[in-house]
Amino acid sequence: MHQFSAWHRLRQICARLGSGMSSALARRMLLWIVCISATAALIATSAQLFFDYRQDVSELDKGMHYIEQNQLPGLADAAWNFNVSSMQVQLDGIGHSPWVAGATVRYGPNQKAELTTGQLDHDADRIYRFSLQRHGIEVGMIYIQPNLHTLYGRTLDRIAIVLAAQTAKSLVTSICILLLISWMITRHLTQMAEFAQSFEPGKRLRPFVLHRRHAHQDELSVLADGLNDAYARLQRAHDFEVHHNDILMQEVALRTAELQDAHARLARQAISDKLTGALNRFGLEERFAVEMQRAQAEGRQLAVIMADIDKFKQVNDRWGHLVGDTLLQDFTAILQDRLRASDTLARWGGEEFVVLCPDTSLEQAMQLAEHMRACVAAHRFAVVDSASSSFGVAAWRSGDVTDSLVKRVDDALYRAKQNGRNRVCPEAPAQA
Ligand code: GH3
Ligand code: MG
Ligand code: MG
Repeated sequence: MHQFSAWHRLRQICARLGSGMSSALARRMLLWIVCISATAALIATSAQLFFDYRQDVSELDKGMHYIEQNQLPGLADAAWNFNVSSMQVQLDGIGHSPWVAGATVRYGPNQKAELTTGQLDHDADRIYRFSLQRHGIEVGMIYIQPNLHTLYGRTLDRIAIVLAAQTAKSLVTSICILLLISWMITRHLTQMAEFAQSFEPGKRLRPFVLHRRHAHQDELSVLADGLNDAYARLQRAHDFEVHHNDILMQEVALRTAELQDAHARLARQAISDKLTGALNRFGLEERFAVEMQRAQAEGRQLAVIMADIDKFKQVNDRWGHLVGDTLLQDFTAILQDRLRASDTLARWGGEEFVVLCPDTSLEQAMQLAEHMRACVAAHRFAVVDSASSSFGVAAWRSGDVTDSLVKRVDDALYRAKQNGRNRVCPEAPAQA
C-alpha cells in the first residue's frame, strides 16, 4: 500500500514535470539554458586547454633544460674523448626521454662526424639546438627534436575529457535548472492559466491555491492573490449586473402590467357609458356585428329588445337633471339584473336602451321584456317614486343587416308608445 502510494506520487510528480517541460516557455528556456551553458563551457574549455597547452610547452622546455643540465655534460665529455660508443649510449639515453622524438649530435673536426638516435625531421618547426662544451671549447652540437606527438596527444586527450565533462555538466545543470524552474514556476503558471481560462461569469470557482508544500510570500503568491482578487471583482461586477437586470426586469414587468391595466381600462371606457356603466353605442356596434355574423353564418337565433323610459323629459323638467340621471342609473340596474350572462345591455342614446339576446326567439325575448317592464313598473324610485317604460322586440330574420333589424325593433317600440306606453310590442310580422 505504502509502495503503491509512493509510486503514485512519483508518477504524479513526473506528470506535472512533464507538463511543465512541454510548455512553450519551458522549451524556450531549455534552449536558452543549453545555448548559454554550451557557450560558457566552450569558453571555459578553451581557456583551460590554452593554459594546459602552455604548461605542457613549459614542461617541454623544462625537460630540455633537464637534458641540457644533466645529460649533455656527459655527452660533451664523450665527444671530447672521441668515445663514440659512450656518445651513442648517452645519445640513446637522451632519445628515451618521453619529450624527445629524436636527436643528432655532430662532433669532431669541423663537426663532420654525426650520431643519431630516434626519428629526426630537419624541416620540423621546433628543434632544440645545444652546443657541447668542454673547458670552454665547443666539442660538438646536438639537435634535439621534441616529441610533439606526446604534447599534442596529451592536449587532445584533455580536450576530449574536458569537452565530455563540460557537456555532461552543462546537460545535467540545464536539466536540473529546468526541472527546478518547472517545479517552482512553470507548473504554477500553467495552473494559473487554466484557472483564468475557466473564468465564466456566474460560475462559482473556489479561489486559486498554489500547490506548494510550504506557503511562501513571493511573486507567485502575489500573482495568485491578484488572480483571486480579479476573479472576485469580476464576480461582484457580474452579480451587480444580474441584480440590476432583475430589478430592471421587475420594473419592466410592473410597468407593463400597469400599461396593460391602463390600456384595458381605456378600452373599457371607450365602449362604456359613463353615467350608467352599460355598453355605449360604439361598444354595441361591435357586439351587434359579432352576433349578426354568428346568426348569419350559423343560423342561430338573435332577438333585440329596445327599451325607453316613458315621459322621461317630465322627470327632468320637474325634478331636475340629477334626479333624471339617478333614474337612468336605477333603470339600467333593473334591466341589467334581469339579463342572462349571454345577453348584452347597451345605452342606445338618451333614455333609450338596447338588449341583444343571442340564441333567443322572439317569444322568449317578449317574455324577458315583459318581465323587465313589470319590474320597472313595480319599482319604487327615489324622488320620482314610480316610473314606467315601453319595449319593442324584434328577432333576426334571414337577410337582415344591423340597420334593418334596428329599424324593426324601433318601430315596435314606437308602436308601444303609440298604444299607450308601459307595454311591450313585438315587431310587425313578416310580410309573405
Ligand atoms: P316618451 O314617453 O315619448 O319617451 O317621452 P320622453 O319625454 O321620455 O321622450 P323625449 O325623447 O321627448 O325626451 C327624452 C329626454 O331625455 C330629453 C332629454 O333631456 C333627456 N335626456 C337625454 N339624455 C339624458 C341624460 O343623460 N340625463 C338626463 N337627466 N336626461 C337626459
Ligand atoms: Mg322616453
Ligand atoms: Mg326617448
